[in-house]
Amino acid sequence: MSFLKEISTEFQSQQTAIVAFIKHSIKTPSFTNVYYCVLAAYLLCFFLEVVLPKQRKHGVLNRKFFWQDTFYVFFNDLFIYLLGFFALCATTEFVFLKILAVFNIHSLEIVSIKKWNPILQILIMFLIQDFCEFIAHILLHRSNFLWRFHKIHHAQEELGAASTRHFHFLEMCVFKPIIYIPFAMIGYSVLDYFLFQITVQNVWGFFTHCNINVKWGWLNYIINTPQTHAWHHAKNIPNKYGVNYASILNIWDILFGYFYLPKDKTPILGVDKNDVPKNFIGQLFYPFKKN
Ligand SMILES: [Zn+2]
Ligand SMILES: [Zn+2]
Repeated sequence: MSFLKEISTEFQSQQTAIVAFIKHSIKTPSFTNVYYCVLAAYLLCFFLEVVLPKQRKHGVLNRKFFWQDTFYVFFNDLFIYLLGFFALCATTEFVFLKILAVFNIHSLEIVSIKKWNPILQILIMFLIQDFCEFIAHILLHRSNFLWRFHKIHHAQEELGAASTRHFHFLEMCVFKPIIYIPFAMIGYSVLDYFLFQITVQNVWGFFTHCNINVKWGWLNYIINTPQTHAWHHAKNIPNKYGVNYASILNIWDILFGYFYLPKDKTPILGVDKNDVPKNFIGQLFYPFKKN
């Protein structure tokens, strides 16, 4: 079988399994069902935006692009998944293994932590995931090519919970399959990665983009909050690349010198020279347009 044929067969078999899992999840609502947990988290953030004081003046439903962002939630977290995003993660592992086979290495697994204490497992997965996301996020800002994709997320001038999913789908198709590799190295399947990704990362994203005016005090120095993430979206910052890159742990930004939380300023959201189209189709093609 040719290499390309093998890749295609691997993709299709993984795709069949993950689509069956997603369909089953959607058809069987329960308290432990991942999609319904994420939906509950979104509704909770939505509720917080309604009842708590606001960081920015706009309301919840009348925020610019509220409905477009809601569409993005379904597009990025359901449609792209059904189209084969997690099968792409598994296929990336397959390709890595094929390359390693040249050096007589036939497994990515270095150590399986699946029998370890569950709390320790979650902690290890969390640290690996969050650090990899942090590095990937810096690259999205530092590479001119990648910034064309990520700029779509930063062009938003008003933020609310669903703004977290307002990004170009190719952004996640480049990084997340690579970030899966460390997971495979400690013994986890692509389905485990899917569950971890959609719960921990997505739920926290809803929270950090909320338009709520709560002062988080010392917590800002440990975890990413709506207060610190607003500065990540600001254009009145001290350098041209960005600050506060963390997904969840702000500790990474503090360690690498990117943490920024001035007491006497208010973040002005958006990007300079905002040429990102306002409509979804325009945004899909924006990264490929010539400057
Ligand atoms: Zn960013
Ligand atoms: Zn953001």
